[in-house]
Amino acid sequence: MLINSYNCDCDYECNAKRFKRNFKNWTSGNNNIDKFIQDTQLLEHNYYEVHNALEWIPYDKLYDIKYITEDNKFGKVYRANWIDGCIDIWDHENKNWGREDQNMFVILKILNNPSSITLEFINKIAVPHEIAVPHKVFGITQDPETKNYMMVSNINKCGICYATCNSMCFQRNFENWTSGNNDIDKFIQDIQLLDHDNANEALEWISYDRLYNVKYIAEDNKFGKVYRANWIDGYIY
Ligand SMILES: [Zn+2]
Ligand SMILES: [Zn+2]
Repeated sequence: MLINSYNCDCDYECNAKRFKRNFKNWTSGNNNIDKFIQDTQLLEHNYYEVHNALEWIPYDKLYDIKYITEDNKFGKVYRANWIDGCIDIWDHENKNWGREDQNMFVILKILNNPSSITLEFINKIAVPHEIAVPHKVFGITQDPETKNYMMVSNINKCGICYATCNSMCFQRNFENWTSGNNDIDKFIQDIQLLDHDNANEALEWISYDRLYNVKYIAEDNKFGKVYRANWIDGYIY
């Protein structure tokens, strides 16, 4: 692996120095990616907080990896849970990085061209709303089977709201229901994805067993038979 020789001149123990001491303990297997991650770490000169450093994330720290969508720029996009959560501060007591959001949801996007990765590229990552990604990237991992390098980014904040909004909550739930008809699924999902603040404007899939007392009431010339029923759950608000 390649080790960046840069030395900062902070006269105190800064995070860049701590990151640098750890360079020998990890490698992505690709010099360019190593250098890229190291460079982001060497920009962190705080004593406590870490802001934008990326890290090498071993693939076995991710679980429940599921395909979610296709993105024009990156191809297949996956979601996963990240066991460790992201680096937050230097923990003096444990002499290690303090982390937050253990088991958080993350998005994985394939890096098609790992040899030309730059910070500018990372910062310019498109934000296709279907996957509601903000710009916050945590690090890079590699699928040991396909050998694809993948960027690991935050799924907890919507790229439009910069917060956890209804659109994201609906999206996380897509895998838990289906109407049995792709067009209807897509129709309901599209409406839900537009809903960043006011949930009672979204549609949802209502399973028939959530309805009771279903009774025929009339014939309508447009729809045919019309029924009335009671709905156990009531609508989302
Ligand atoms: Zn420093
Ligand atoms: Zn939103």
